[in-house]
Order: sequence, then C-alpha cells, then structure tokens
Amino acid sequence: MASSPLRPRMVTADAAGNIRDHPRLLMVCRKGEEILLPRPEELIPLPPESTLFFLPGRGALGFDLDSRALEEHEDQAVAAFAAPAHTLTAHPAFRRAPNAPVLPLFAYGAVGFAHNRLYLCAKKVDADRRQEFRAVPPALLERQARELVARFPGNRLIRHLAGTCARIYNCPAARNLCLGRYEAPLPVSRVCNARCLGCISLQDKESPISRTPQCRMEFTPSPEEIVEVMRHHGSRETSAPIFSFGQGCEGEPLTEAPLIAAAIRLFRAGGGRGTINLNSNASLPEAVALLAEAGLSSLRVSLNSARPGPYARYYRPAGYSFEHVVQSIRIAKTSGLYVSLNLLFFPGFSDTEEELSALIALIRQERVDCLQLRNLNIDPDLYLDLMRGLPTGPCAGYINAVKRLRRECPWLRLGYFNPPLEDGGGGS
Ligand code: SF4
Repeated sequence: MASSPLRPRMVTADAAGNIRDHPRLLMVCRKGEEILLPRPEELIPLPPESTLFFLPGRGALGFDLDSRALEEHEDQAVAAFAAPAHTLTAHPAFRRAPNAPVLPLFAYGAVGFAHNRLYLCAKKVDADRRQEFRAVPPALLERQARELVARFPGNRLIRHLAGTCARIYNCPAARNLCLGRYEAPLPVSRVCNARCLGCISLQDKESPISRTPQCRMEFTPSPEEIVEVMRHHGSRETSAPIFSFGQGCEGEPLTEAPLIAAAIRLFRAGGGRGTINLNSNASLPEAVALLAEAGLSSLRVSLNSARPGPYARYYRPAGYSFEHVVQSIRIAKTSGLYVSLNLLFFPGFSDTEEELSALIALIRQERVDCLQLRNLNIDPDLYLDLMRGLPTGPCAGYINAVKRLRRECPWLRLGYFNPPLEDGGGGS
C-alpha cells in the first residue's frame, strides 16, 4: 500500500517564545518570492545541533486544505538554523509587518511538524562529522581551551582562538583546535577589499544590520605565532590535519599574502605536513600565485553567484572585479592546487536557471574540483531586495540543481567542508 506524502503542519511561536504546531494549517515555505507547500523529498527530520528561532514582526503563514488558501496566524513565524553539513532548500514563509526588524546574520530554514517531530527544508550535503559536538562535554572543551592558552602564554593567536573564538563565538573550527582534531583555523587579516552585505565580522555604520556574530580581529599574528599553532595542531591531529587560513573573524587573508607565505614556508621547511587551505574571496591573482609557490595545498573561493552582476551587488568589491576571481581560480588550478567553490546558497535564487547555468559554466571552464554548498546567512528579504530586477528564470529547486550539477560536471565533488588531501604537501 502506498504511504501518504509527508505533509507537516505549521509551527508558530507566541509572544513568550513558546513554539507549538498548529492543529490544522499545513506548513508552507518560501523560495525567492514564491510561497508553496514543501516537496516531501526536500524535507528531513530536524538534525541534532540545529537551532530554532522565532522571527519578530513576521506572522506565520499556513495553508488551509479546505479553502485551499494561505492563512496568516497571529503568532510569529519560526525558523531553524541548520546544523553544519546541511544545505537549506527553502526559507520560512511569513507576512512581514512594516516595522519588522532586520533579522540577524543567520540562515533561516523552513520548519514544520509531523509524526511527533520537527522537519526542516534541507538536505545533508556532507557525511563528514567534523562539526558535530554533541558527544563533547562542555567541561572538557572548556578545560582544553584553558590548557591551550596556558601552554602557549605568549601566543596571541592561540589566545584569540581558544579564548575568544572557541568560548565566546562557539566557532566550530576553533573548538576543534582546542580538541586537537580535524581542521585548525588560522585567521590573520584585519582588513578586506570587499564589503559583503552579510559580512559576519564587520558592517558599515550605515548598514541595516546592527550587529555581527563575530568581531574583526584587532592584531596581526607573526609567522612564528601562526606556525606554532600549525605545529601544535599537527602534533595532535596526526591522520589528516588541515590548516585553514581565512576565517569568520577576519578580513580577506589575501591582503596578508606575504605573511601567510612566510608562515607556510617556515612550516614546510620544518617538515610540517598536511593540507594547508585558504578560504578566500580570491580577489588578488598575484597573491594566489605567491601562496601556491610557497606550498599552499588548496583554495576555497566563496561567492554568492557566478554572474558578475549579482556578485558585485553582494560583495561590493573595492579595486577588483569578478574577472580577478576567475583569474585566481585559473592560477590556482594551473599551479596544481585543489580548488573548491563555496557557493553561498540561497533557495529560490541560487537554484534558478540563470544562476545555475553561470555556475556550471564556471565549474566546467576552470575544471573546479569541489563545490561546497553552504547557506547564505542573511535576512531573506534583505537579499531579495538587493537582487531585485535581475533576470533569474524559473527555480529548479535544490534537488534538481544538484542532479544537474552531477550530470553536467561528473568529476565534481559536492560537500560542505574542505576535504583533507592525500598529497596535501610536505613530502611523502
Ligand atoms: S570577503 Fe569576507 S571578510 Fe570581506 S567583506 Fe566579504 S565576508 Fe567580510
């Protein structure tokens, strides 16, 4: 006997923040400007370590099967921030009051309730468990962070990562450094040559976003401080260490390319092994060439779009253009680096015809190795307003977009995290 399709009911939050499911109205979701019932194959049980939000000034919308119409509820809409390794397939549907505040910089997934559990519009895109922490007792993390700072009292970078990033920002990469596992973060840069609308470390005074989840770092570490972090992490994560420049609490690492090159050379000269990765906006091709020559293993290029117009609207680059990003990718590939694109995925925009075609053309043209599908952390209305008027074509949906990527780019790895490379560097 065929089972009936999954049809979650709407969830809402009252003024006190109590979340409950509606007895009758069905969950609806939003892709761009379109409000629709979620496709059952785009729903998953809410993953552990996801966070629920209620959305102030936004009345929840549900679907009445009898009248076949949308109904607005007096309670607030609810959304979920998905645990890492998951990509959102739709945003929550709501009716926004004129005085509603701009939402803080998180990614908002649509949630509903069925079979005694919450469901989320998302798909798991990476099997790697490096950012799961539910088995780690908070007391252990706290102790390891304190021990790390105590062991390297003169190292400002360790103090920043273990003291601020791991304990205050709950940064997963910094927490993993404290635990001695997976990928270690190496932030170095105080400045940036872009002004992303959703930058999580710095916003202009006139920005509609009042707070950033992290603060831009206020010192520049020395090569010796950086290498001390790398050597320490390499001594604890011995199977597949990854060292990643370019983190949420900094600006653009390529603006500090000579410093990074000096640190990489020092680390490699001392026999340092493992994958050295750079998360970047890839704005400076000569700087990418310098780092490749110094011993970098991989480059991850973040972008909201592979079209110059939407890219410029969001990144607001100063002194470079999308063409420089493409040049950097080309240099990285010809230098033998493993290249990932980090697509800041926004359901209803990234999965439209124009966006997908441009992305696939870039991946094919430059033979990009990996596509990371991470969520764009932003108030959905703010982003749609920014992109208003651009041709986008029909929305294929996340699942069809992934199918097309697999069909047209069969070599492409899809994921969420920087993969460790077997030949990450340092000799065999
Ligand atoms: S490129 Fe990174 S650091 Fe620079 S503005 Fe954008 S998000 Fe912020």
